[in-house]
Amino acid sequence: MTDKAQHPDTIAAQALGWIDERTRAVIPPLHVSTTYLRDEDNQYRSGRVYARADNPAFDQAEAVINALEGGHQALLFASGMAAATAVFQALKPGDHVLAPKVMYWSLRNWLMGFATEWGLDVELIDMTSPDAVAAALRPGRTALVWIETPANPLWTVTDIAETARLAHAAGARVAVDSTVATPLLTRPLALGADVVMHAATKYLNGHSDVIAGALVVREDSPYWQRVRKVRAQLGGTLGSFEAWLLLRGLRTLHLRVRAASASALAIARHFDGHPLVAEVLYPGLPQCQGHTVSLRQMNGGFGGMLSIRARGGEAAAIAVAAKTAIWKRATSLGGTESLIEHRASVEGAGTPAPPDLLRLSTGLEDTADLIADLEQALALAHP
Ligand SMILES: *Cc1c(COP(=O)(O)O)cnc(C)c1O
Repeated sequence: MTDKAQHPDTIAAQALGWIDERTRAVIPPLHVSTTYLRDEDNQYRSGRVYARADNPAFDQAEAVINALEGGHQALLFASGMAAATAVFQALKPGDHVLAPKVMYWSLRNWLMGFATEWGLDVELIDMTSPDAVAAALRPGRTALVWIETPANPLWTVTDIAETARLAHAAGARVAVDSTVATPLLTRPLALGADVVMHAATKYLNGHSDVIAGALVVREDSPYWQRVRKVRAQLGGTLGSFEAWLLLRGLRTLHLRVRAASASALAIARHFDGHPLVAEVLYPGLPQCQGHTVSLRQMNGGFGGMLSIRARGGEAAAIAVAAKTAIWKRATSLGGTESLIEHRASVEGAGTPAPPDLLRLSTGLEDTADLIADLEQALALAHP
């Protein structure tokens, strides 16, 4: 082994190349123990005590995710929400937080509900506008700026480097929900972010069979130690089997993300200007918000997520989703199977999703099959 940083494809495919020292197995064992032996001298030789705080089943997956993001340390959580909320729970009552108006709906609900009731001062802004960020920052009072890019479900793009520059000048930390971009397409820490969050449920695991979350930090700090305590004390800890499956999924991350991105771009281009489609939302299209920023912020693709707006409004959109066969009507994203979802039905009142919007998670099926299935569904919905 050399010390030279490995290519992300090599990191992912070999999961950093770890070998089990005792058995020489190339795949790690599944550690399920919840507790660890205390030695006669009353110390814990392993450094481990109890699996709510820490678990050897996490080590390799955390190291792989950390290496892919180029961070100081990664932490696995029981879900993307457990990871995201830990970032906010480590703040103090009264802290001012900026978050985007367009963001993952469940997290937005939690921020405007529990987090606000517990005393966080949460302000939703247009995060894609550096002017809006600059105007909303309160130097010395804003503790955190939360970015999601590309953001659910309009796939708007925020310039991480520019936002981090503004936030840091005001003394605020920056956290990025990079679930959709994945570390293959965007590396937020290198662009100036302090923390990266992933719903590992989505692309990192990639097979729609694990709920998991991850955080990666650029450098250690008392704040990060509080985040660690949130996981250990509130107990949003991932299960051993989920961590084992996640590591297995990570080994093909690079292939899955590239394939889904290439397919999504082809689908976006195909339906851009289609007579039955009012608009395609995808950062890979030149006319879409954020295309210019994506060209420098995303490398190797624009991701597997896009939305289409059906001509004919909400009823037409729901009818299109009803007629797809290959695209499955289900929530979530980042699996091998393509998913279609009428977002306004999920998000309800206050959603930024237009009523005619269908969110598409491009899977790994044949691109022509995916296009043909949407074509026939659009035709059937518009008799
Ligand atoms: C799914 C998702 C989350 C939440 O992750 P869970 O594992 O479902 O808790 C957060 N952010 C984004 C962008 C997501 O897609």
